[in-house]
Amino acid sequence: MPVGGQEKLKILIRRAAIQKRVHEVAQQITRDFRGQRVHLIGVLKGACIFLSDLVREINLETSIDFIAVSSYGKGKQSSGQVRVLKDLDSSIEGLNVVLVEDILDTGLTLSYLLRIIQQRKPKSLRVAALLDKPSRRLKDVNGDYIGFTIPNEFVVGYGLDYAERFRNLKDVCILNLPPE
Ligand code: 5GP
Repeated sequence: MPVGGQEKLKILIRRAAIQKRVHEVAQQITRDFRGQRVHLIGVLKGACIFLSDLVREINLETSIDFIAVSSYGKGKQSSGQVRVLKDLDSSIEGLNVVLVEDILDTGLTLSYLLRIIQQRKPKSLRVAALLDKPSRRLKDVNGDYIGFTIPNEFVVGYGLDYAERFRNLKDVCILNLPPE
């Protein structure tokens, strides 16, 4: 896929590896919640593709909802400020909630989301994240189901964007931008 200027994309995780790992994570969730319903909450927009693939591999009764938060704006740096842009459609009281994130980076977004979701009294609350960059963590939060632990690189593809671009890439790629 052509990219503008001096931008360079390098494949970090291939589509086949993602597919295999998503299946494994779904099997783990299926085992952990055997006989129960799980309510997946996708964090828009980055987690939409991961959630779509994950939910179809979970062999349980499921329901889904989405929440949208702002954290990064158009750039690569977190502002540290989290704001709800779109709230959940329905109550989660008494449900087994799995919050589905694209990537855990500083943990600021997740720690905010855990706080507001916990206030709504789910029966249980776990976190699934496709990617984890633990070296960047500022908050003491972690995922229960992690697809891949990755180095401190800015990645795009499989739902992750740079200024709304690249979400449609099938592989997770490292994006290198030319110096400003
Ligand atoms: P945190 O609050 O943990 O720093 O950031 C979480 C959010 O920042 C993610 O949900 C994602 O939207 C964005 N983010 C963090 N690292 C990356 C990255 O390497 N690539 C992209 N595209 N987004 C990232």
